[in-house]
Amino acid sequence: MLSLADVLVAFWLLGCVDFVNIKCMKLTTNDYRVETSARHVHLSRADFVKLFGADAEMVVAKSLSVNGEFKSDKTVTIVGTKRNFERVAVLGPFRTQTQVEIAVTDSYTLGVKDVPVRMSGDLHGSAPVTLLGPAGTVNLPEGMIVAQRHLHINPRDMQKFGLINGQAVKITVGTARQATFHNVIVRESDVDFPTVHLDTDEANAVL
Ligand SMILES: [Zn+2]
Repeated sequence: MLSLADVLVAFWLLGCVDFVNIKCMKLTTNDYRVETSARHVHLSRADFVKLFGADAEMVVAKSLSVNGEFKSDKTVTIVGTKRNFERVAVLGPFRTQTQVEIAVTDSYTLGVKDVPVRMSGDLHGSAPVTLLGPAGTVNLPEGMIVAQRHLHINPRDMQKFGLINGQAVKITVGTARQATFHNVIVRESDVDFPTVHLDTDEANAVL
């Protein structure tokens, strides 16, 4: 199991990035980065209070690269039918709805079926999930997803590369186990640098 320190580990890969409508642009490590998102949880304020108590505060443990998000000092347990994942990182700031992001391999370990691949925030009809914290439990009828791989990019760089928000692009990662990821969704973001987010299954596949 990954340590908390591995929650969002940046690793830099050489390769050719082949955007839709733009022929195989030769981007180098100076042009984009790939970050691996290990399993993590975004909480609503109400669910945070249920899990950690009314007096608890979410403290920034580490700033992340995108949209002012951060790893907090808090962790929760994701409850499965086969086993649980303990010490799962809670990211801030608060969301309007609690969202749990896992990899497909995680779903097998938990014993949870039919966790859909979704963009962040698209939770309608997603998988139910139970979370445990030091002060209580939350049972959510929906909220667990496998995150759709995506490219965070700011408006200036979108213009530079001729991309539009929501567009799918493909990205070839040129490691020893080179592979091309299709359907990498462009997300206009507050980010200083184009950043591809893969989950642990995707990232491990090209290590
Ligand atoms: Zn992301």
